[in-house]
Amino acid sequence: MKVANQQIIKGSNMKKIFTLIRESEGISRAKLARLTNLSKVAVSTLVEELINTGFVTDKGAVITNKMGRHSNMLVVNGKGKAIMVFHWLPKEVEARLINLDDSCLGSIRVAFAGTIDYVKETQKMFNELAKEVADKTDILGVCIISPTTVDPNDGVVLSSILAIPEDDTVFKSLRAVIPTIPLAFFNDTACFAYAELPFMQAEDSTSRLFLNLNKGIGAIILSGEHMLGGASGNTTEFGHFSVDRYGERCECGNHGCLENRVGEKALNKRAEEFGLVGIDKDSQVTYKSVAKGLYSNEDGYQEFCQVLAGDLAFAIGNLITVHNLQSVIIGGRGQVLGEGFLDMLKAVFPENGFHGFIAKTELRYSERKPEDKSEFVGAAKYFFARHFSFTEPMEQQTLLN
Ligand SMILES: [Zn+2]
Repeated sequence: MKVANQQIIKGSNMKKIFTLIRESEGISRAKLARLTNLSKVAVSTLVEELINTGFVTDKGAVITNKMGRHSNMLVVNGKGKAIMVFHWLPKEVEARLINLDDSCLGSIRVAFAGTIDYVKETQKMFNELAKEVADKTDILGVCIISPTTVDPNDGVVLSSILAIPEDDTVFKSLRAVIPTIPLAFFNDTACFAYAELPFMQAEDSTSRLFLNLNKGIGAIILSGEHMLGGASGNTTEFGHFSVDRYGERCECGNHGCLENRVGEKALNKRAEEFGLVGIDKDSQVTYKSVAKGLYSNEDGYQEFCQVLAGDLAFAIGNLITVHNLQSVIIGGRGQVLGEGFLDMLKAVFPENGFHGFIAKTELRYSERKPEDKSEFVGAAKYFFARHFSFTEPMEQQTLLN
């Protein structure tokens, strides 16, 4: 028991030290000792192990102060260790190998016209990428990002935009074809939210909502740097919050769900219903096309956006009434709606929800754009921070949050 405890403490100290090295542009052993309250001897021993196992590099002596004193600077070894991240989307699968310094070592993207066998395609891409870097890079884990909510206790799929079975078979099948490397499944919104953390400088007690405005609508509640419920997307089904209790019944069982009114997948129907000029069955209404109409002052687009903003503000305002949130960050394809839409949202916001909370909530867009593909780094960082262990064996583990 004592030995086990020591291993846990050692693992946690190694992670602390590694994280400090990762967040710095070079840090000395002495500074690590000061920041961690560990002895210099203990830090040196742990650093030696991190160097020997290929996680950290000693850059050698660098002048660190005006007195001309030299210290050996430690940096993350950008090569040699990577996390393979897949993003499963309705019509494509993309895989990236993310190094521990967040750089991308290699990637594959495959688009599909018909139904996708996600397990088979992931296995193929895994083999291809692994072969490219074999002998040079240790793959610490495989993360799958998908627009899916999973029950982290039994692996049952609660909702997904993808055509995957509503049970736990997809995870079991993937585990069977990638048998040893730790395998983690994350909700897409959680990965975007985690990638946003470096841009959130707030107190630990700050509660925030990261909203993913996409084909569907997802949300993650963050308390400080902690994502409530982990990365399974299981804490809130914000896209299925009802904005019209007599509205059309959703597949989820609820009526008038937010994502069926404001999600990108609902825009065609919504525009037709609204009577937006020039919309017919052949036109594809997207956030981008709506933004184009709005900013080129086309007829009706201002009013159409106000209706969308009204529904979104109603849902967010009521969520804030339940859970006092200091800020709401909007990410995803919906960001293209721009400042004009954000202003509309801010204008109707005070009319929704409990005023004492709402009045203090900041609304802004994400610092990351969808084309940044920040979800890959977000997933890799989260996997490393939450699941990776320097001291415990991780083989064959399947992680669902
Ligand atoms: Zn629903």
